[in-house]
Amino acid sequence: MTKRKIPIEIDVHFKLFGKEPWEVIYGDRCVICNTRIDEYGFCSCGSDGD
Ligand SMILES: [Zn+2]
Repeated sequence: MTKRKIPIEIDVHFKLFGKEPWEVIYGDRCVICNTRIDEYGFCSCGSDGD
């Protein structure tokens, strides 16, 4: 496979922060979406105004 399918949570992070999630310094996981909270304190659901 030559094409890399990007999971939605990664795609969201890329749109939000302009870099891949593995380039972001993560902290704890969000208890709601189970995504690790990044250096800005955001997770996948945090920016969606849950
Ligand atoms: Zn979350």
